[in-house]
Amino acid sequence: MTAGYFPPCHRQTSSTYTRYAVVGLPSAGQKISPPWRDLFRPTIVRPGTPPINVRRGRRPAVERSGTNALGVRRPVVGGRSCPPAVPISVHQQQGENHMHEIILCKLGEVVLKGLNRRSFEMKLMSNIRRRTQRFGKWKIYSRQSTIYVEPAEETCDIAGAYAACKQVFGIIAITRALPCEKSKEAIFDTAKTYLGGALTAAKSFKVESKRADKSFPMGSIQLSQWVGGALHDAFPHLTVDVHHPELTVYIEVREDAAYVHGPAESAAGGLPLGMGGHAVSLLSGGIDSPVASYMIAKRGVQLEMIHFASPPYTGELAREKVLKLAEELTPWCGRLAVFIIPFTEIQEEIRRKCPEDHFTLIMRRFMMRLANMLALELRCRALVTGENLGQVASQTMQALAVSEDVTTMPVLRPLIGMDKEEIVKIARHIGTFDTSILPYEDCCTVFTPRHPKTKPSVEETREYESALDVEGLCQRAMAGREMIRIKPTL
Ligand code: ATP
Ligand code: MG
Repeated sequence: MTAGYFPPCHRQTSSTYTRYAVVGLPSAGQKISPPWRDLFRPTIVRPGTPPINVRRGRRPAVERSGTNALGVRRPVVGGRSCPPAVPISVHQQQGENHMHEIILCKLGEVVLKGLNRRSFEMKLMSNIRRRTQRFGKWKIYSRQSTIYVEPAEETCDIAGAYAACKQVFGIIAITRALPCEKSKEAIFDTAKTYLGGALTAAKSFKVESKRADKSFPMGSIQLSQWVGGALHDAFPHLTVDVHHPELTVYIEVREDAAYVHGPAESAAGGLPLGMGGHAVSLLSGGIDSPVASYMIAKRGVQLEMIHFASPPYTGELAREKVLKLAEELTPWCGRLAVFIIPFTEIQEEIRRKCPEDHFTLIMRRFMMRLANMLALELRCRALVTGENLGQVASQTMQALAVSEDVTTMPVLRPLIGMDKEEIVKIARHIGTFDTSILPYEDCCTVFTPRHPKTKPSVEETREYESALDVEGLCQRAMAGREMIRIKPTL
């Protein structure tokens, strides 16, 4: 069972682009679609479909008053028989308005960080704080490989914060949970009420307990058996299945409280953004480069985006598409700056002075050079591209050697060994696919040679390039750049 979740491109977005310097952009030029665009059609998703929720037929008969030692209101007890339920996600069945519900974020690779672990955790908590602040005030702290996100005011939007945390790198699994008093009766009451919908809908279940607080008077197996037995009495239609249950009820007895929750969902994984340094990512309007950016950001790298535009051969729509892709990446990559570099003069010069079969190669060397210049200026330590071995003529081993010949820092190519299908799957998952396949021209599709060189040599390419004023062309391109800040949409 997984909670209803739509990738970011299906959400309404409210971000704005902040312009810093604007260069004139003529109208759209010719449209040339790369071969991928015809192979993959966008899928139709209906984002507005509300989640089906099962309301219980009758309200529980008895409500115990008072609060426990934590100030947590006692859960409602005494549920009666319910109408047949439609199977839906555990989170939907947990209901939306449990006042003291919290979010448990399980740490991923961060736990392997040895002496550095604390700094990774601190960074992760500050990333979570930044992402959740628009959903209210939260108390965020870490204990025992888990980060707790606790509402600090009544008006907190727990569903919004949960969705935001799911896209924070460094968290491997996530669940909403209800804390309660550390007694077996309170744990049972909480499980019965909080997971009542899910228990009603399931056919089989089991209870799994973890007892981090060793002073708790029962062992974890004993506790599971006791709560399991009581739940079985309360929901007699359920069978116990310890191997393949439809629903697992989790109990975690920790220092400060016991927590009850359903199965955790997998989250973004990776390492906290900012812990892996800074890199410049070459963002085109295609499928590959947004995926490459996502994959490197997932390793904790904060990205700056660079895009090469060739007006009037590339138009305003192509540029807007790139900004939209950057915006769709922000739930994963955080705030982004997109540097748009005018590339027309460079491309026209190459066409005028270099042999046709080397057009693309020399153009790619200029891209690398300019990205390298920007990276040095921004104190970044690597470049990121969506290149993929053998995908096109400019991505053979020899061609890659020619293009990276002009860089002074590592070129990270996370897609190098992937199949297009695998890349497309990730593009759909992160929500960039539908934008990537919009049919607007990219500067790479302008002046495409009929017979590009697939096994070029570095020396030969350098020789052809010597006909150009490389320094001057790069200086003018950098001087005409524009920077656009993209605010995170989630
Ligand atoms: P596609 O899915 O169409 O292959 P792509 O983004 O991979 O999209 P390629 O022509 O394969 O496009 O280019 C290889 C890489 O070069 C890109 O992944 C990107 O990193 C970089 N690149 C290409 N064109 C541009 C551009 N106009 N601006 C910035 N980077 C670019
Ligand atoms: Mg590509």
